[in-house]
Amino acid sequence: MPRLRRPLVAWLAGAGSLALVVTATPAVAQPRPDLPAYSAQLDRAQPGDAAFLSAPECSEEPRELPVNEFTDHRELGIELDRIESASGGAVDVEQVGRSNRGRELWSARVGTGPKAVLLTSEIHGNEKTGTDAIVDLLDWVGTSDSAKAKRWREELTIVAIPKMNPDGAELDRRGNDMTWNEVTARHPQLRNSPQAWNYYTDARQGDDYAATPGFDTNRDYHPDLGYVPRAEDFPGSSADTGWYITPEAQTVRDVYRGLTAEFGKVDTYVDLHHQGACYVMPDDPDEFVTLSISGRFVDDPATTPGYEQYADYDLDYSKKLNVAVNNALQSAANNRPLFGNVTLYPQDTNLPGTGLGAFALNGSGAVLFEVRGQTQTLGQQYRAVLTRSVYIGLDGMLSAIASGRVDQLDPAAYDAIPPRGPNIGDASAARGTTLER
Ligand SMILES: [Zn+2]
Repeated sequence: MPRLRRPLVAWLAGAGSLALVVTATPAVAQPRPDLPAYSAQLDRAQPGDAAFLSAPECSEEPRELPVNEFTDHRELGIELDRIESASGGAVDVEQVGRSNRGRELWSARVGTGPKAVLLTSEIHGNEKTGTDAIVDLLDWVGTSDSAKAKRWREELTIVAIPKMNPDGAELDRRGNDMTWNEVTARHPQLRNSPQAWNYYTDARQGDDYAATPGFDTNRDYHPDLGYVPRAEDFPGSSADTGWYITPEAQTVRDVYRGLTAEFGKVDTYVDLHHQGACYVMPDDPDEFVTLSISGRFVDDPATTPGYEQYADYDLDYSKKLNVAVNNALQSAANNRPLFGNVTLYPQDTNLPGTGLGAFALNGSGAVLFEVRGQTQTLGQQYRAVLTRSVYIGLDGMLSAIASGRVDQLDPAAYDAIPPRGPNIGDASAARGTTLER
Protein backbone atom coordinates (compact mmCIF):
# COMPACT_ATOMS: atom_id res chain seq x y z
CA MET A 1 0.00 0.00 0.00
CA PRO A 2 1.30 3.45 -0.79
CA ARG A 3 1.70 5.78 2.12
CA LEU A 4 -1.25 8.13 2.28
CA ARG A 5 -0.28 11.71 1.68
CA ARG A 6 -1.65 14.42 3.85
CA PRO A 7 -2.69 17.59 2.06
CA LEU A 8 -0.20 20.42 2.52
CA VAL A 9 -3.04 22.89 2.80
CA ALA A 10 -6.01 21.55 4.70
CA TRP A 11 -8.08 24.61 5.29
CA LEU A 12 -11.56 24.85 3.89
CA ALA A 13 -12.17 28.50 3.45
CA GLY A 14 -15.58 30.06 3.81
CA ALA A 15 -16.82 32.99 1.79
CA GLY A 16 -15.61 35.46 4.41
CA SER A 17 -11.93 34.63 4.22
CA LEU A 18 -12.07 34.27 0.44
CA ALA A 19 -13.22 37.85 0.16
CA LEU A 20 -9.86 38.82 1.66
CA VAL A 21 -8.11 37.39 -1.39
CA VAL A 22 -9.54 40.06 -3.63
CA THR A 23 -8.63 42.91 -1.35
CA ALA A 24 -5.10 41.61 -0.71
CA THR A 25 -3.86 42.73 -4.14
CA PRO A 26 -0.73 44.89 -4.07
CA ALA A 27 -1.42 48.52 -4.92
CA VAL A 28 1.36 48.62 -7.52
CA ALA A 29 1.51 45.82 -10.06
CA GLN A 30 4.92 44.10 -10.07
CA PRO A 31 6.07 41.67 -12.73
CA ARG A 32 6.80 38.22 -11.39
CA PRO A 33 10.57 37.73 -11.18
CA ASP A 34 10.38 34.16 -12.52
CA LEU A 35 8.14 34.98 -15.45
CA PRO A 36 9.22 32.55 -18.21
CA ALA A 37 7.76 34.74 -20.96
CA TYR A 38 10.58 37.21 -20.43
CA SER A 39 13.38 34.77 -19.76
CA ALA A 40 15.24 33.48 -22.80
CA GLN A 41 17.51 31.74 -20.31
CA LEU A 42 14.74 29.20 -19.70
CA ASP A 43 14.87 28.15 -23.33
CA ARG A 44 18.57 27.30 -23.28
CA ALA A 45 19.91 24.01 -21.97
CA GLN A 46 20.26 23.90 -18.19
CA PRO A 47 22.50 21.75 -15.97
CA GLY A 48 19.54 19.61 -14.85
CA ASP A 49 18.52 18.70 -18.39
CA ALA A 50 20.92 15.79 -18.59
CA ALA A 51 19.17 14.12 -15.66
CA PHE A 52 15.78 14.81 -17.23
CA LEU A 53 16.89 13.30 -20.51
CA SER A 54 18.61 10.18 -19.19
CA ALA A 55 16.28 7.73 -17.56
CA PRO A 56 18.26 5.42 -15.29
CA GLU A 57 15.31 4.79 -12.98
CA CYS A 58 11.90 6.21 -12.31
CA SER A 59 9.00 5.33 -10.04
CA GLU A 60 5.28 5.99 -10.21
CA GLU A 61 4.91 5.13 -6.52
CA PRO A 62 3.12 8.06 -4.79
CA ARG A 63 5.28 10.15 -2.45
CA GLU A 64 4.87 13.23 -0.28
CA LEU A 65 6.54 16.07 -2.15
CA PRO A 66 6.46 19.87 -1.90
CA VAL A 67 4.30 21.81 -4.37
CA ASN A 68 4.55 25.30 -2.85
CA GLU A 69 6.23 26.83 -5.93
CA PHE A 70 3.07 26.30 -7.94
CA THR A 71 0.39 29.02 -7.91
CA ASP A 72 -2.23 28.08 -5.31
CA HIS A 73 -5.84 29.29 -5.26
CA ARG A 74 -5.17 32.37 -3.14
CA GLU A 75 -2.16 33.36 -5.22
CA LEU A 76 -4.13 32.84 -8.43
CA GLY A 77 -6.72 35.38 -7.29
CA ILE A 78 -3.97 37.89 -6.57
CA GLU A 79 -2.17 37.21 -9.86
CA LEU A 80 -5.30 37.54 -11.99
CA ASP A 81 -6.20 40.79 -10.26
CA ARG A 82 -2.67 42.08 -10.82
CA ILE A 83 -2.74 41.12 -14.52
CA GLU A 84 -6.14 42.74 -15.02
CA SER A 85 -4.77 45.93 -13.51
CA ALA A 86 -1.39 45.82 -15.32
CA SER A 87 -3.14 45.24 -18.66
CA GLY A 88 -5.31 48.30 -18.17
CA GLY A 89 -8.37 46.08 -18.40
CA ALA A 90 -7.31 44.32 -21.62
CA VAL A 91 -7.51 41.15 -19.53
CA ASP A 92 -10.98 41.02 -17.99
CA VAL A 93 -11.20 38.79 -14.91
CA GLU A 94 -14.59 37.62 -13.78
CA GLN A 95 -15.87 35.18 -11.20
CA VAL A 96 -17.90 32.66 -13.20
CA GLY A 97 -18.78 30.18 -10.49
CA ARG A 98 -17.82 28.54 -7.24
CA SER A 99 -16.35 25.14 -6.47
CA ASN A 100 -18.25 22.70 -4.30
CA ARG A 101 -16.40 24.03 -1.24
CA GLY A 102 -17.11 27.62 -2.20
CA ARG A 103 -13.83 28.69 -3.81
CA GLU A 104 -14.13 31.15 -6.68
CA LEU A 105 -13.82 29.92 -10.26
CA TRP A 106 -12.41 32.73 -12.36
CA SER A 107 -12.40 33.33 -16.09
CA ALA A 108 -9.87 35.68 -17.67
CA ARG A 109 -10.79 37.02 -21.10
CA VAL A 110 -8.47 38.87 -23.46
CA GLY A 111 -8.83 39.92 -27.10
CA THR A 112 -11.73 41.04 -29.26
CA GLY A 113 -11.20 38.74 -32.24
CA PRO A 114 -13.75 36.54 -34.00
CA LYS A 115 -12.14 33.22 -33.03
CA ALA A 116 -12.94 32.06 -29.50
CA VAL A 117 -10.36 29.89 -27.72
CA LEU A 118 -11.16 28.34 -24.34
CA LEU A 119 -8.31 27.16 -22.10
CA THR A 120 -8.74 25.19 -18.87
CA SER A 121 -6.21 23.79 -16.39
CA GLU A 122 -5.96 21.70 -13.24
CA ILE A 123 -9.23 19.78 -13.65
CA HIS A 124 -7.04 17.23 -11.89
CA GLY A 125 -5.69 19.11 -8.87
CA ASN A 126 -2.37 17.24 -8.89
CA GLU A 127 -1.61 18.47 -12.45
CA LYS A 128 -0.45 22.02 -11.98
CA THR A 129 1.81 23.40 -14.73
CA GLY A 130 -1.15 24.43 -16.91
CA THR A 131 -2.28 27.03 -14.39
CA ASP A 132 1.16 28.64 -14.22
CA ALA A 133 1.45 28.60 -18.03
CA ILE A 134 -1.95 30.30 -18.40
CA VAL A 135 -0.96 33.01 -15.92
CA ASP A 136 2.25 33.66 -17.88
CA LEU A 137 0.35 33.72 -21.17
CA LEU A 138 -2.32 36.13 -19.92
CA ASP A 139 0.36 38.40 -18.54
CA TRP A 140 2.14 38.57 -21.90
CA VAL A 141 -0.85 38.89 -24.23
CA GLY A 142 -2.51 41.43 -21.94
CA THR A 143 0.47 43.76 -21.58
CA SER A 144 2.75 43.36 -24.62
CA ASP A 145 2.91 46.08 -27.29
CA SER A 146 4.45 43.68 -29.82
CA ALA A 147 2.86 43.18 -33.24
CA LYS A 148 2.31 39.56 -32.33
CA ALA A 149 0.35 40.34 -29.18
CA LYS A 150 -1.70 42.95 -31.01
CA ARG A 151 -2.55 40.40 -33.70
CA TRP A 152 -3.64 37.89 -31.06
CA ARG A 153 -5.86 40.50 -29.44
CA GLU A 154 -7.38 41.45 -32.81
CA GLU A 155 -7.90 37.94 -34.17
CA LEU A 156 -8.65 35.92 -31.03
CA THR A 157 -10.86 36.04 -27.99
CA ILE A 158 -9.00 33.96 -25.43
CA VAL A 159 -10.98 32.86 -22.39
CA ALA A 160 -9.06 30.96 -19.70
CA ILE A 161 -10.44 29.19 -16.65
CA PRO A 162 -7.24 28.32 -14.77
CA LYS A 163 -7.43 25.87 -11.86
CA MET A 164 -11.00 24.83 -12.62
CA ASN A 165 -10.92 22.28 -9.75
CA PRO A 166 -9.57 24.44 -6.90
CA ASP A 167 -10.80 22.11 -4.14
CA GLY A 168 -8.81 19.24 -5.63
CA ALA A 169 -5.89 21.60 -6.23
CA GLU A 170 -5.78 22.72 -2.58
CA LEU A 171 -5.90 19.06 -1.51
CA ASP A 172 -3.23 18.40 -4.18
CA ARG A 173 -5.20 15.48 -5.58
CA ARG A 174 -7.00 14.34 -8.73
CA GLY A 175 -10.65 14.39 -7.65
CA ASN A 176 -12.78 17.27 -6.45
CA ASP A 177 -14.12 17.50 -2.86
CA MET A 178 -17.77 16.46 -2.96
CA THR A 179 -19.88 13.69 -1.47
CA TRP A 180 -22.64 11.69 -3.13
CA ASN A 181 -25.06 13.07 -0.50
CA GLU A 182 -24.24 16.58 -1.72
CA VAL A 183 -25.05 15.47 -5.28
CA THR A 184 -28.43 13.97 -4.35
CA ALA A 185 -29.29 17.02 -2.25
CA ARG A 186 -28.94 19.12 -5.41
CA HIS A 187 -30.47 16.50 -7.70
CA PRO A 188 -33.21 14.73 -5.70
CA GLN A 189 -34.13 12.61 -8.73
CA LEU A 190 -30.87 10.67 -8.14
CA ARG A 191 -31.67 9.67 -4.55
CA ASN A 192 -32.34 6.02 -5.40
CA SER A 193 -29.86 5.62 -8.24
CA PRO A 194 -26.44 3.94 -7.95
CA GLN A 195 -23.50 6.22 -7.21
CA ALA A 196 -21.58 7.49 -10.24
CA TRP A 197 -18.72 5.22 -11.37
CA ASN A 198 -16.27 8.12 -11.12
CA TYR A 199 -17.04 8.76 -7.43
CA TYR A 200 -13.86 8.10 -5.45
CA THR A 201 -14.21 6.69 -1.92
CA ASP A 202 -10.99 4.67 -1.70
CA ALA A 203 -7.24 5.27 -1.69
CA ARG A 204 -5.63 6.23 -4.99
CA GLN A 205 -2.51 8.07 -6.10
CA GLY A 206 -1.57 8.23 -2.41
CA ASP A 207 -4.70 10.17 -1.45
CA ASP A 208 -7.37 8.99 1.01
CA TYR A 209 -10.79 9.51 -0.56
CA ALA A 210 -12.49 7.43 2.16
CA ALA A 211 -12.32 10.36 4.56
CA THR A 212 -12.83 13.03 1.89
CA PRO A 213 -14.63 11.62 -1.15
CA GLY A 214 -14.76 13.31 -4.52
CA PHE A 215 -15.40 12.89 -8.23
CA ASP A 216 -13.18 12.72 -11.25
CA THR A 217 -14.54 15.98 -12.66
CA ASN A 218 -13.03 15.04 -16.00
CA ARG A 219 -15.76 12.45 -16.58
CA ASP A 220 -18.63 14.79 -15.67
CA TYR A 221 -19.21 16.33 -19.13
CA HIS A 222 -21.91 15.60 -21.70
CA PRO A 223 -21.96 16.68 -25.35
CA ASP A 224 -25.61 17.67 -24.86
CA LEU A 225 -24.87 20.96 -23.11
CA GLY A 226 -28.42 21.14 -21.77
CA TYR A 227 -28.38 17.64 -20.27
CA VAL A 228 -30.15 17.24 -16.90
CA PRO A 229 -29.04 14.26 -14.74
CA ARG A 230 -31.36 11.23 -15.02
CA ALA A 231 -31.36 8.34 -12.53
CA GLU A 232 -31.33 5.70 -15.28
CA ASP A 233 -27.98 7.03 -16.59
CA PHE A 234 -26.12 5.98 -13.40
CA PRO A 235 -23.65 4.52 -12.52
CA GLY A 236 -22.38 4.99 -16.09
CA SER A 237 -18.85 4.15 -17.25
CA SER A 238 -15.74 5.69 -18.75
CA ALA A 239 -17.10 5.09 -22.26
CA ASP A 240 -20.39 6.84 -21.40
CA THR A 241 -21.29 10.51 -21.19
CA GLY A 242 -21.14 12.31 -17.81
CA TRP A 243 -23.78 14.40 -16.06
CA TYR A 244 -22.70 17.91 -15.02
CA ILE A 245 -23.28 16.99 -11.36
CA THR A 246 -20.14 18.84 -10.20
CA PRO A 247 -20.31 22.65 -9.98
CA GLU A 248 -16.84 22.82 -11.55
CA ALA A 249 -17.85 21.06 -14.80
CA GLN A 250 -21.15 22.97 -14.80
CA THR A 251 -19.24 26.26 -14.70
CA VAL A 252 -16.97 25.36 -17.64
CA ARG A 253 -20.04 24.15 -19.56
CA ASP A 254 -21.81 27.45 -18.87
CA VAL A 255 -18.82 29.48 -20.12
CA TYR A 256 -18.56 27.25 -23.21
CA ARG A 257 -22.27 27.63 -23.89
CA GLY A 258 -22.04 31.41 -23.50
CA LEU A 259 -19.16 31.58 -25.98
CA THR A 260 -21.08 29.39 -28.41
CA ALA A 261 -24.03 31.79 -28.24
CA GLU A 262 -21.73 34.78 -28.74
CA PHE A 263 -19.45 33.44 -31.49
CA GLY A 264 -21.53 30.75 -33.17
CA LYS A 265 -18.92 28.19 -32.13
CA VAL A 266 -15.89 27.88 -29.92
CA ASP A 267 -13.01 27.57 -32.39
CA THR A 268 -10.64 25.74 -30.06
CA TYR A 269 -10.71 24.12 -26.64
CA VAL A 270 -7.50 23.18 -24.80
CA ASP A 271 -7.34 21.18 -21.55
CA LEU A 272 -4.02 21.08 -19.70
CA HIS A 273 -3.10 17.87 -17.85
CA HIS A 274 -0.18 15.78 -16.62
CA GLN A 275 0.47 12.07 -17.11
CA GLY A 276 2.81 9.53 -15.50
CA ALA A 277 6.40 10.59 -14.82
CA CYS A 278 8.11 7.57 -16.34
CA TYR A 279 7.01 7.36 -19.97
CA VAL A 280 9.99 7.16 -22.31
CA MET A 281 10.41 7.96 -26.00
CA PRO A 282 9.48 5.05 -28.31
CA ASP A 283 12.88 5.08 -30.02
CA ASP A 284 15.00 5.81 -26.95
CA PRO A 285 14.23 4.19 -23.58
CA ASP A 286 16.81 6.53 -21.98
CA GLU A 287 14.78 9.70 -22.67
CA PHE A 288 11.62 10.70 -20.84
CA VAL A 289 8.59 12.06 -22.67
CA THR A 290 8.24 15.77 -21.87
CA LEU A 291 4.74 16.10 -23.24
CA SER A 292 2.13 13.95 -24.92
CA ILE A 293 -0.55 15.67 -26.99
CA SER A 294 -3.76 14.59 -28.65
CA GLY A 295 -6.67 15.81 -30.76
CA ARG A 296 -8.70 12.60 -30.75
CA PHE A 297 -10.91 11.68 -27.77
CA VAL A 298 -14.08 10.10 -29.14
CA ASP A 299 -15.14 7.65 -31.82
CA ASP A 300 -16.33 9.25 -35.06
CA PRO A 301 -19.88 10.38 -34.25
CA ALA A 302 -20.97 9.86 -37.87
CA THR A 303 -20.63 6.11 -37.38
CA THR A 304 -21.50 5.87 -33.66
CA PRO A 305 -25.15 5.08 -32.86
CA GLY A 306 -26.71 7.87 -30.80
CA TYR A 307 -24.07 10.46 -31.78
CA GLU A 308 -25.12 11.19 -35.37
CA GLN A 309 -26.40 14.67 -34.44
CA TYR A 310 -22.85 15.87 -33.66
CA ALA A 311 -22.20 16.62 -37.33
CA ASP A 312 -19.85 19.58 -36.65
CA TYR A 313 -17.15 17.25 -35.26
CA ASP A 314 -13.89 18.11 -37.08
CA LEU A 315 -11.02 15.77 -36.28
CA ASP A 316 -8.81 17.22 -39.04
CA TYR A 317 -8.92 20.67 -37.43
CA SER A 318 -7.96 19.22 -34.06
CA LYS A 319 -5.06 17.44 -35.75
CA LYS A 320 -3.87 20.72 -37.34
CA LEU A 321 -3.93 22.47 -33.96
CA ASN A 322 -1.82 19.69 -32.47
CA VAL A 323 0.62 19.95 -35.38
CA ALA A 324 1.03 23.65 -34.54
CA VAL A 325 1.80 22.72 -30.92
CA ASN A 326 4.34 20.11 -31.98
CA ASN A 327 6.00 22.38 -34.56
CA ALA A 328 6.60 25.06 -31.93
CA LEU A 329 8.14 22.58 -29.50
CA GLN A 330 10.36 21.00 -32.17
CA SER A 331 11.66 24.49 -33.06
CA ALA A 332 12.38 25.19 -29.38
CA ALA A 333 14.26 21.88 -29.20
CA ASN A 334 17.06 23.42 -31.25
CA ASN A 335 18.11 25.27 -28.10
CA ARG A 336 16.91 22.81 -25.51
CA PRO A 337 16.47 19.19 -26.63
CA LEU A 338 13.94 18.19 -23.95
CA PHE A 339 11.28 20.40 -25.57
CA GLY A 340 11.44 18.04 -28.54
CA ASN A 341 10.40 14.94 -26.59
CA VAL A 342 6.78 15.19 -27.71
CA THR A 343 4.68 12.07 -28.34
CA LEU A 344 1.13 11.33 -29.30
CA TYR A 345 -1.17 10.36 -26.44
CA PRO A 346 -2.92 6.98 -27.02
CA GLN A 347 -5.41 7.37 -29.88
CA ASP A 348 -7.72 4.48 -29.00
CA THR A 349 -9.75 6.29 -26.32
CA ASN A 350 -13.49 6.98 -26.46
CA LEU A 351 -14.28 9.49 -23.72
CA PRO A 352 -17.45 11.50 -24.45
CA GLY A 353 -17.66 12.33 -20.72
CA THR A 354 -14.50 14.44 -20.80
CA GLY A 355 -14.57 18.16 -21.56
CA LEU A 356 -12.39 17.55 -24.62
CA GLY A 357 -14.64 14.78 -25.92
CA ALA A 358 -17.88 16.67 -25.24
CA PHE A 359 -16.69 19.96 -26.76
CA ALA A 360 -15.04 18.25 -29.76
CA LEU A 361 -18.42 16.68 -30.51
CA ASN A 362 -19.84 20.23 -30.49
CA GLY A 363 -17.46 21.21 -33.28
CA SER A 364 -14.50 22.74 -31.43
CA GLY A 365 -10.96 21.91 -32.36
CA ALA A 366 -9.65 20.09 -29.28
CA VAL A 367 -6.14 19.81 -27.85
CA LEU A 368 -4.93 17.78 -24.88
CA PHE A 369 -1.60 18.51 -23.17
CA GLU A 370 -0.25 15.72 -20.93
CA VAL A 371 2.87 17.06 -19.22
CA ARG A 372 5.35 14.72 -17.58
CA GLY A 373 4.64 13.73 -13.97
CA GLN A 374 1.82 14.47 -11.52
CA THR A 375 2.68 15.98 -8.15
CA GLN A 376 2.68 12.65 -6.26
CA THR A 377 5.68 11.56 -8.34
CA LEU A 378 7.52 14.72 -9.44
CA GLY A 379 6.24 17.30 -6.95
CA GLN A 380 7.49 20.64 -8.22
CA GLN A 381 10.64 19.19 -9.79
CA TYR A 382 11.15 20.59 -13.32
CA ARG A 383 8.26 23.02 -12.67
CA ALA A 384 9.76 25.90 -14.63
CA VAL A 385 10.79 23.95 -17.72
CA LEU A 386 7.61 21.90 -17.89
CA THR A 387 5.52 25.06 -17.51
CA ARG A 388 7.63 26.56 -20.27
CA SER A 389 6.91 23.57 -22.54
CA VAL A 390 3.17 24.19 -22.10
CA TYR A 391 3.68 27.89 -22.79
CA ILE A 392 5.64 27.21 -25.99
CA GLY A 393 3.00 24.79 -27.25
CA LEU A 394 0.14 27.20 -26.52
CA ASP A 395 2.08 30.09 -28.04
CA GLY A 396 2.67 28.18 -31.27
CA MET A 397 -0.95 27.06 -31.49
CA LEU A 398 -2.45 30.49 -30.78
CA SER A 399 -0.08 32.16 -33.26
CA ALA A 400 -1.14 29.67 -35.94
CA ILE A 401 -4.84 30.34 -35.28
CA ALA A 402 -4.38 34.12 -35.17
CA SER A 403 -2.44 34.19 -38.47
CA GLY A 404 -4.66 31.65 -40.20
CA ARG A 405 -1.62 29.45 -40.83
CA VAL A 406 -3.30 26.62 -38.94
CA ASP A 407 -5.51 25.97 -41.96
CA GLN A 408 -2.47 25.23 -44.13
CA LEU A 409 -1.02 22.65 -41.76
CA ASP A 410 -1.15 19.00 -42.81
CA PRO A 411 -3.23 16.69 -40.60
CA ALA A 412 -1.02 13.82 -41.76
CA ALA A 413 1.83 15.42 -39.79
CA TYR A 414 -0.22 14.65 -36.67
CA ASP A 415 -0.24 10.95 -37.45
CA ALA A 416 3.56 11.13 -37.88
CA ILE A 417 4.13 12.34 -34.28
CA PRO A 418 5.73 9.35 -32.52
CA PRO A 419 3.53 7.33 -30.17
CA ARG A 420 4.27 7.36 -26.44
CA GLY A 421 6.81 4.73 -25.42
CA PRO A 422 6.46 2.44 -22.38
CA ASN A 423 6.29 3.53 -18.74
CA ILE A 424 9.46 2.26 -17.09
CA GLY A 425 8.32 2.95 -13.52
CA ASP A 426 4.73 1.74 -13.54
CA ALA A 427 4.48 0.13 -10.11
CA SER A 428 0.73 -0.24 -10.49
CA ALA A 429 1.16 -2.47 -13.54
CA ALA A 430 2.61 -5.12 -11.30
CA ARG A 431 -0.51 -4.94 -9.13
CA GLY A 432 -2.78 -5.42 -12.12
CA THR A 433 -4.25 -1.95 -12.21
CA THR A 434 -3.72 0.76 -14.78
CA LEU A 435 -2.27 4.21 -14.37
CA GLU A 436 -4.60 7.16 -14.27
CA ARG A 437 -3.43 9.77 -16.64
ZN1 LIG B 1 -5.43 14.81 -15.90
